[in-house]
Amino acid sequence: MGSLSDRTATIVGAGIGGLTAALALARRGARVTVLERAPALTEVGAGLQLSANSVRVLDALGLGASLDAVTLRTAAVQLNDQQGRRVLRMDLLAHRSQVRFVLIHRASLVSLLAEAAAAAGVDLRFGQDLDSVPDVPLVVAADGVKSRLRPLLAGREVPFFTGQTAWRAVIPAKPDSAPEAHVFMGPGRHIVSYPLAGGLRNIVAVEERRDWQDEGWSHPGDPDQLRAAFAGFGGPVPGWLAAIGQVHLWGLFRHEVATRWHDGRLVLLGDAAHPTLPFLAQGAGMAIEDAWVLAACLDDDADQGVALSRYQSLRQPRTRRIVAAANANARNYHLGGAKRLLGHAALRLADRAAPGLMPGRFDWLYDYDPVADLAG
Ligand SMILES: Cc1cc2nc3c(=O)[nH]c(=O)nc-3n(C[C@H](O)[C@H](O)[C@H](O)COP(=O)(O)OP(=O)(O)OC[C@H]3O[C@@H](n4cnc5c(N)ncnc54)[C@H](O)[C@@H]3O)c2cc1C
Repeated sequence: MGSLSDRTATIVGAGIGGLTAALALARRGARVTVLERAPALTEVGAGLQLSANSVRVLDALGLGASLDAVTLRTAAVQLNDQQGRRVLRMDLLAHRSQVRFVLIHRASLVSLLAEAAAAAGVDLRFGQDLDSVPDVPLVVAADGVKSRLRPLLAGREVPFFTGQTAWRAVIPAKPDSAPEAHVFMGPGRHIVSYPLAGGLRNIVAVEERRDWQDEGWSHPGDPDQLRAAFAGFGGPVPGWLAAIGQVHLWGLFRHEVATRWHDGRLVLLGDAAHPTLPFLAQGAGMAIEDAWVLAACLDDDADQGVALSRYQSLRQPRTRRIVAAANANARNYHLGGAKRLLGHAALRLADRAAPGLMPGRFDWLYDYDPVADLAG
């Protein structure tokens, strides 16, 4: 590392992708400026699951110890039916003990990345609302799902409303909460919940609705409406919902992965390139992987256009596959009637045959190691 010392990069957006890219480029010697629209680092109160593929990158960037201090290590992911009965359990600690899956508050991840970037010499500037490409040699568009820079490369895109609305809330967690992510699946709706460090519990509840909400994160919702929509759920769900004082909701939209990621000077990264539905918990993970691969490609090839083409060719197929898998989960979680009975029976059978084992069908996702892959 360190061979980018003659290069400068300007990154638009100080979200998870932009900050990881800033750190990855600065660690390789580049002079990096990040331009962020918000007046200060303000992250919404919500949790994130990070899987091994993205944790490997954060470790390689030297964040392992600080990550451990603000995360819970995910012990298991369990799918349950609406009544709270186990359908399938994946014991991560038992079966993937050598790698880390973690649960983290978004604000903790953003401040950890921002502090590391600042310590690595990155110039972070706030209150910079960009709508055109700055006149510098390399611009990374990490300006999120509503990217203003993406249409300059990939044309204007009309996202498609999925008919699903998501609610998000954080409640106090019981002190003995197991560090497990649980999904409760009912017809036309599901809930995902997991605890976070600091005595909190994250809740995301997705409901099929004909009316739609804007794609933003921060529209206030009515907790009573949420409780009514999930009144038929059992297990721990009623207790969690009763504890919700404040909830936000937003519409879930499907987007195409961008067809063109760069023009030799401007390059897309994170949600700006591949917004995804949250049903595989990989949006932030993909942005973190992008950041490592982009920095490594630029480091490997002095010709910036060649490096950016390699970045696109490495990232586009993988992000397309992940986005498609998240779309498929959206359908599978909400099955109704006979399809649901059959689907759950098949998963229960697999669970009984190999209790706690991670189904191998996601090895391609979690076993990917961008650090080893781009080692040179
Ligand atoms: C409910 C929900 C749950 C999720 N759960 C998970 C999960 O468990 N695991 C996971 O990996 N992912 C998850 N994600 C996805 C993840 O949050 C996103 O994919 C990730 O934040 C994308 O990072 P980004 O840096 O590309 O964009 P963002 O984090 O959105 O950052 C974009 C930044 O750009 C700034 N910006 C925008 N426009 C401009 C402009 N014109 N000029 C300057 N700055 C600008 C914004 O202010 C913002 O700071 C979830 C998403 C949702 C909605």
